[in-house]
Amino acid sequence: MKPNTDHNEVLFERAKRLIPGGVNSPVRAFKAVGGTPRFVQRAQGAYFWDANGRRYIDYIGSWGPMILGHGHPAVVEAVQKAIAEGFSFGAPTEREVELAEAIIGLVPSIEMLRLVSSGTEAGMSAIRLARGATGRSKFIKFEGCYHGHADALLVKAGSGLATFGNPTSAGVPPEVVHDTLVLEYNNVAQLEEAFALHGHALACVIIEPIAGNMNFVRASVPFMKRCRELCSEHGALLVFDEVMTGCRVALGGAQSVYARDIPGFAPDMTVLGKVIGGGMPLAAFGGSRAVMEQLAPLGPVYQAGTLSGNPVATACGLATLREIGKPGFFEDLSRKTRALVDGLGAAARDTGVDFSADSEGGMFGFFLLDALPQNYTAVMKSDGAKFNRLFHGLLERGVYIAPALYEAGFVSAAHSAQDIAETVGAAREVFQILQNS
Ligand SMILES: *Cc1c(COP(=O)(O)O)cnc(C)c1O
Repeated sequence: MKPNTDHNEVLFERAKRLIPGGVNSPVRAFKAVGGTPRFVQRAQGAYFWDANGRRYIDYIGSWGPMILGHGHPAVVEAVQKAIAEGFSFGAPTEREVELAEAIIGLVPSIEMLRLVSSGTEAGMSAIRLARGATGRSKFIKFEGCYHGHADALLVKAGSGLATFGNPTSAGVPPEVVHDTLVLEYNNVAQLEEAFALHGHALACVIIEPIAGNMNFVRASVPFMKRCRELCSEHGALLVFDEVMTGCRVALGGAQSVYARDIPGFAPDMTVLGKVIGGGMPLAAFGGSRAVMEQLAPLGPVYQAGTLSGNPVATACGLATLREIGKPGFFEDLSRKTRALVDGLGAAARDTGVDFSADSEGGMFGFFLLDALPQNYTAVMKSDGAKFNRLFHGLLERGVYIAPALYEAGFVSAAHSAQDIAETVGAAREVFQILQNS
């Protein structure tokens, strides 16, 4: 091939002939920002290299799992050892018990859990279990929160609180989302109204406590407190989808962050994924013993998986949890993430760009807006064209952030002060260009 062939472009053309959109998950296709996706050749620490051998500072970290950075030696060793012992057995292993113990040790609201292979599977199973355990069909989700792509969750708000949602994907029959009520995030009055109308029929409220699928939006403390109270009053389960925030915003997840402000706070069920698998396909859902014992083979709610609790994935997850549980890990990670967000904020201020940002633990979000948005509608007021120019400006300077303005960002333990300074320097240049044009 010619020396200045763009190998990403060549691979993308090849991929598009064989795989819809050339990708195995839509956001990877750069559809929102335009341009050619970078095909990753390899990764190490805070970096990955594309098909042209170009290095990028990685702020997506596989969308959250790579909290230690890529190729952490202790994790690589654990995975290599596990692989030598066998890939999959379809029979129980000690490592599944160890991982269950480790997760339950970190998240006290979980008394029992079940391991699965993806966040989607965990979220779907949690909803089924909540419905099975309460004997109720209806549930609440919030606009802008993502809980995987199970049919009943691919839904947008209907025309009013008395009406349930409409599918957001072709192939989802309206009757499948008929019992899903979609409310505005952080809207206490609407939540109260919905419970007044439907409280007796609600199996659960499912929520991303710190939403990472509409960039980064925290549920306010009063809103979360009201979610908890209303669920308890009406016999509905409060389900925390911590697939993204679990072991990412704090060792004990977002629920430990809310417990600082709301004494005794705990959800009834928790959905986990991403970090607990350390980059391997692994997720979980758990809760009280009484609820979890409703699952097959003990109870009437069916759920199963050929690769669930996979021995290689559990080895990877265990090694990852061991590292992030070391003293000072989260303090260091939080400090780094805060330094990034503060640095970007200072660069924006100096160049006169509207900017707001937030972070918790190793997760962050920023907006080209002068104040942090509180719900999906406000997030979507961001200037998409401006974000796309920022994205490509950073990419050209070797900084890879999420290729869509409605996604959160992730810092790993492998990011150095130098990486963060380089990122802030790149952002300052791009902000300047945005202001001058
Ligand atoms: C990523 C994510 C999921 C889906 O997990 P997959 O492993 O991609 O199926 C569910 N909920 C939240 C909050 C997520 O961030």
